[in-house]
Amino acid sequence: MRQLEERIITDGKVLPGGVLKVGSFLNHCIDTKLLGDMAAEIASLYKDAGVTKILTIEASGIAIAAAAGMALGVPVVFAKKHRTTNVEGSVYMTIIHSFTHNEDYHVIVQRDCLDASDKILIIDDFLANGSALRGLIDLVSQSGAEVAGVAVCVEKCFQPGGDEFRAKGIRVDALASIESMTDDGRITFRS
Ligand code: 5GP
Repeated sequence: MRQLEERIITDGKVLPGGVLKVGSFLNHCIDTKLLGDMAAEIASLYKDAGVTKILTIEASGIAIAAAAGMALGVPVVFAKKHRTTNVEGSVYMTIIHSFTHNEDYHVIVQRDCLDASDKILIIDDFLANGSALRGLIDLVSQSGAEVAGVAVCVEKCFQPGGDEFRAKGIRVDALASIESMTDDGRITFRS
């Protein structure tokens, strides 16, 4: 998606360790025009895929997942990193290693949020090593539902997550696919 690539070039910041900072438009301050356009793009990619629900993980996946849910007309579930008092009953649980915080989280979804008859589109802001999405796929498979595909705003193709899922036959769509990033800030995209 050209608009997102241009915004990454203009306002993204490459941090040491292969991290792209996009807090000025994607996951701290949110450019709602760009968010709506990204959601429309995801909706057009998945309009015929029979999606019944979207699953994401808190916190930075929620905005794009909610916008895509509105565009597709389906509900959105977000996996929680902490069991809070308003989570009732039994849960599906998995462990996700956070790339940006270098920490393991026990991630949960209340069982009645996912149904075996669901066809789930999994959405996140970034795909890097694939730990977050692997955990979300695990939660879907625990529920007996089907994964329709995985859609992310940004895939860092120099990290192995995307290729791992494609090799398993999982559909992966990225609105911007970064081929390489250098520490001095040069970013190239996969065409
Ligand atoms: P993975 O689990 O695929 O290694 O990493 C994906 C998760 O880590 C996403 O949920 C995202 O929030 C975060 N993440 C990974 N790489 C980046 C990055 O370069 N920039 C930002 N802002 N977040 C990232």
